[in-house]
Amino acid sequence: MRGFLIAVLVALAPTPLAAKQVPQDSSWAFENSDIPVDPDFRFGRLDNGMRYIVRHNATPAGTAVVRMVVNAGSLDETDSELGYAHFVEHMAFNGSKRVPEGEMVKLLERDGLAFGADTNASTSFERTVYKLDLPRSDHILLDTALMLMRETASNLTITQGAVDRERGVILSEMRDRNTWDYRNSLDSTQFFYPQARYARRFPIGTTETLNAATSASLRAFYTREYVPGNVTLIVIGDFDVGAVEAGIIRHFNDWSGPDAEAQPGAGPVASDDSGRTEVYIDPALSERVTVLRNGPYLDQPDSVVERQQNLLRNIGYAIINRRLRRLARTAEPPFRGAGFGTGNIFEAGRSSRLIIDAVDGHWQRGLQAAVREYRRALAYGFTKGEVTEQLAEIRTSIADAAASADTRSNRALAGAAMALVADETIPSTPASVQQRFENFAPQITPDAVLEAMKHEAVPLDQPLIRFEGRKAPEGGSEALRKAWQDLMQEPVAKAADEGSMTFGYTDFGQPGKVVSDTRDPHLGIREVRFANGVMLNLKHTDIAKDKVLVSLAIDGGDMLDTRANPLASEMAPYLDEGGLGKHSRDALDTILAGRTLSFGLSRGAATFTQRARTTPRDLPLQLDLLTALITDPGYRREGEVQYRQSVTNYFARLRATPQSALQADLGAIISDDDARFSLQSLQDYRQLGYDKLRDDIGDRLAHGAIEVGIVGDIDEDRAIALVAKTLGALPPREPTFRSYDDQPQRTFTADRSPRVIHHTGPADQALLRITWPTRDDSDPVAALTLEMLERVMRVQLTDRLREALGKAYSPSANSWLSRHWKGYGTFSVNASVDVRDVPATREAIHTVVQDLNTAPVSADVFQRARQPLLESLHNALKSNSGWLSLVDRAQSEAERIDRYEQAEQRILALTPADLEVMARRYLTPNSGLEVLVLPEGVSTPAQK
Ligand SMILES: [Zn+2]
Repeated sequence: MRGFLIAVLVALAPTPLAAKQVPQDSSWAFENSDIPVDPDFRFGRLDNGMRYIVRHNATPAGTAVVRMVVNAGSLDETDSELGYAHFVEHMAFNGSKRVPEGEMVKLLERDGLAFGADTNASTSFERTVYKLDLPRSDHILLDTALMLMRETASNLTITQGAVDRERGVILSEMRDRNTWDYRNSLDSTQFFYPQARYARRFPIGTTETLNAATSASLRAFYTREYVPGNVTLIVIGDFDVGAVEAGIIRHFNDWSGPDAEAQPGAGPVASDDSGRTEVYIDPALSERVTVLRNGPYLDQPDSVVERQQNLLRNIGYAIINRRLRRLARTAEPPFRGAGFGTGNIFEAGRSSRLIIDAVDGHWQRGLQAAVREYRRALAYGFTKGEVTEQLAEIRTSIADAAASADTRSNRALAGAAMALVADETIPSTPASVQQRFENFAPQITPDAVLEAMKHEAVPLDQPLIRFEGRKAPEGGSEALRKAWQDLMQEPVAKAADEGSMTFGYTDFGQPGKVVSDTRDPHLGIREVRFANGVMLNLKHTDIAKDKVLVSLAIDGGDMLDTRANPLASEMAPYLDEGGLGKHSRDALDTILAGRTLSFGLSRGAATFTQRARTTPRDLPLQLDLLTALITDPGYRREGEVQYRQSVTNYFARLRATPQSALQADLGAIISDDDARFSLQSLQDYRQLGYDKLRDDIGDRLAHGAIEVGIVGDIDEDRAIALVAKTLGALPPREPTFRSYDDQPQRTFTADRSPRVIHHTGPADQALLRITWPTRDDSDPVAALTLEMLERVMRVQLTDRLREALGKAYSPSANSWLSRHWKGYGTFSVNASVDVRDVPATREAIHTVVQDLNTAPVSADVFQRARQPLLESLHNALKSNSGWLSLVDRAQSEAERIDRYEQAEQRILALTPADLEVMARRYLTPNSGLEVLVLPEGVSTPAQK
């Protein structure tokens, strides 16, 4: 509930609009390119035309990922088949020759794979991808995975009964997706690409075609599109490559089918389309103007020269976007954000776009500032300093990638293999990428950058202009068009060259002395304390070469919020936007270009925190930066402006979806309007500023207890010396984190009358939420029992809702136990459903809860809930972030290490009867609080 204002700061950067289309011939892109392919991948093709990519990799050790890419998506649908590619994807989980309907997910859960239909498969315009992440690289599990993929390839039964049952699921998905955001992107696509095939083929389909789908019509799509020539199987993991290859051959060699048909083009995209204007209004949309021109598709296969050109033009776009960001970060910003870029529309064309996220009502001012920068760049190009800053960033990311090449994750490598299949991007070794970059770098000049960018960017002459927002612009379309034309006539001046700056925080005084230095005997975490009270915990790992994670915890966080001053810590996540005393936030971007660093603080329950990703090389600077933020925050006005813009936007769309309406009201309902846990008025947020933040958290930044965790590719003694020079050199800190016992307890309302709140979204969307008060986190066995109960609840609800409504979604269940509020915790269930289905959903949840109260769950359900939990525990310390979750508070919350070590044995000791006891204690049918979110103007469906 708290912290919801942080996530709304929208970073705007134009991304490529869509990937390139796959040609129908089955050769590999590297067969015709001068980019050398990474030799550690093994590529193969079966006689039937199916391709595969296999690679041994052991990060995380003893695990694997399997991906099946089918080059069939919504573009392949005829007019009467809209939504079928996605429908078929769903049918992959609903029965095949060897796996009966409803059994696949269960089978995977028993093997420890937590599964949700859409998290493990996805359908886009061009392809459908099936994914399995194997928690163990044992051959039996691999064989199961290959068997399931083989079933999906050609053995799905797609019976009429299963189609009818699944239809409801897909219609629910369609209902859930129908948000202001989705409607806006659909409209935008149809405005800019009115003739394009893809603009009429958003993968979800239409109610009409989905309702008309039958077993026969879906099978026709399936047998036509799921053919060997359309499929690539990818297996990356801790296996012998030869054995995987043999397995693929064994499972897939018998598959035969017709040749793959060519995928219809996504276009046409008309290059001469110009001069049209659109105004699109939705109360949830903040103001944005998009100026766009289409051009022909530039066919550029992956090659050394093409990558050089791509690098050059991307530097050009990045510099323009850097200039625009600088304007957005001023104390009087002309816009909230703006961006310029060019992307391919599949292989049908390319689009150059200038996008302005204006302050509501101020589109003219925003457009003016953005057009100036766009024209300035095209007229005068870039400075050497700007190119150098971008090169530093690129050089560092390439060098970081090369240094950690040997410990890339299975998922990252699967991603590289997917990019070969999907975009024909050749996976070459990070070392060869680095070598090509360094060879080319001397030729990267401001002139070369401008030339490459101009070659690709389509001139914005007589462009298409689209306005979106809450209120139409004054003067409508004509005003937009006229503003654009006037601005294109204005004279523009050259950009001034910024002087260079150096980081002003490298000396924090006499290095601190280490007063204790011990090692945890079980996990080998080294625990150090400095004379000033700062705690430091270290763990060297070989998991990821050249990578370091740093955590910082400072006493404070949400616990500073009181009933009288409930927003004390609210702006803390914007501390970094105010920069440092010596440097603005924007200047820091230039000064720190080319460094791998994180900056800023988050709010935790009783701490301010940071989790930084850095490298051994940049660890000293990372520690300098964190220490500077604590000791000399800049509190510059531009950070307040950023905060207020995001708050205003957040409130403007507060009721636009059932989820956001619930988020807005739930805290106040549960806490009986306790100000610490309730959304305050917009006015209260808008009045916040840095003066108040300094008053409210300054003392904590200056004196609060500090604990630092460092995990990864580190030399322990060097890390200790670096912390000694920075945080260890500060004046004395409080030795322990505060308990905040003086805060009044957090309570859960005694009023169990059902509540109804309203949203302003579509008239069929409802959200049902039931919350039970539970307990705090102090008893580890109770915490694990409730976690198991959460998983059992999810398994049972999925089964039951499907039975009751003929549809399944992934209803959520969540157990949260407070570490800091005595006796406080919650267990909740959320289901987003059709308004008509509210009574049946309520009834189904009620039945599941009743059942959990009256009898132990079956051994099978118990196993399906438990195995994924055990697997995640087994794999927890195979990543640096897993380690950091134990290292970060190893001294102040030492018992967490003990809990981790005993967790497996405690889980194995739990029985279904234990869950029943726990359910009876906390989850009785009448002790939950129901909150129902309904569309505005819809009367309340029948109560229970
Ligand atoms: Zn779906």
